[in-house]
Amino acid sequence: ETLMSLIECKNINRYFGSGANRVHVLKDVSLSIEKGDFVAIIGQSGSGKSTLMNILGCLDSATSGSYQIDGIETAKMEPDELAALRRERFGFIFQRYNLLGSLTARDNVALPAVYMGMGGKERSNRAEKLLQDLGLEGKEGNKPSELSGGQQQRVALARALVLKPKVLLFDEPLSNLDANLRRAMREKIRELQQSLGITSLYVTHDQTEAFAVSDEVIVMNKGKIMQKAPAKELYLRPNSLFLANFMGESSIFDGELANGTVNIHGYCIPLSDSAQFSLPDGPCLVGIRPEAIFLAAEGSEAQHCEIKSAVYMGNHWEVI
Ligand code: ADP
Ligand code: MG
Repeated sequence: ETLMSLIECKNINRYFGSGANRVHVLKDVSLSIEKGDFVAIIGQSGSGKSTLMNILGCLDSATSGSYQIDGIETAKMEPDELAALRRERFGFIFQRYNLLGSLTARDNVALPAVYMGMGGKERSNRAEKLLQDLGLEGKEGNKPSELSGGQQQRVALARALVLKPKVLLFDEPLSNLDANLRRAMREKIRELQQSLGITSLYVTHDQTEAFAVSDEVIVMNKGKIMQKAPAKELYLRPNSLFLANFMGESSIFDGELANGTVNIHGYCIPLSDSAQFSLPDGPCLVGIRPEAIFLAAEGSEAQHCEIKSAVYMGNHWEVI
């Protein structure tokens, strides 16, 4: 018996439309998520993040490929089987809170438990405990219109947790909130995820947010997973030109590699051992992070450069 990951996708493709309007939205996506992982998914708008999340959360099915959750293959499931799986295992938090305006915070949180036929006492207890954990003590009886945006999103978070799901799926949950509140909320989400140890996937287009909440980040582009790695690895060891340009600022130069040294227009930089042995000699592209470049004292052995402009950015200067 092989050890299965909690979530395991193999070669998932998703097409929408038909005939000339057929679009290929997910392209051979393979992915494993272990129990307890917190993985962020980033990528430009339209790169397929929500489509992937909907399939993972059993809101949608792949056109081809295999998707197993907890060892259960979902590929050939009927819609009602899929819906049951979704209710049992997943909690969703979307950008729109979708709270019912006529219900109190407590009843909004308890609502999924009503559908599952849970008793009234147990429901209220669970809802109140979650609202307390999320810092909403005293607001249990408030209607959504009596709560701020951040408070409403915490009610939505509590509602997603009320059935004790195995996996939490966040799709741009903080996009409606202003910058300060977003920061506070992402800390709250991180704290909660760590205390519950709940497996979480978190879609955002905000790189800082992705780094702040997660252990690992998936970068998507045009329906493909480009790289899946901890933030530090993505930044220090991007696996492609796309990633090098995607993560932070970098300048790309034409270079020539020979004898463990890369030559950029006559300026030679020795490479570290690991880079030397993994790269073939010949023409190459060299990506340099701006913060890796230092100003040297006059007269020292350094490359002479001409500064075209320098902009003061507070904690650094941007020099071109
Ligand atoms: P993201 O969440 O990364 O912004 P989406 O997964 O929502 O991207 O969409 C990816 C692409 O798939 C987009 O080009 C979008 O227009 C297309 N798409 C998504 N859902 C459908 C659908 N139901 N029918 C047709 N095209 C769709
Ligand atoms: Mg989306």
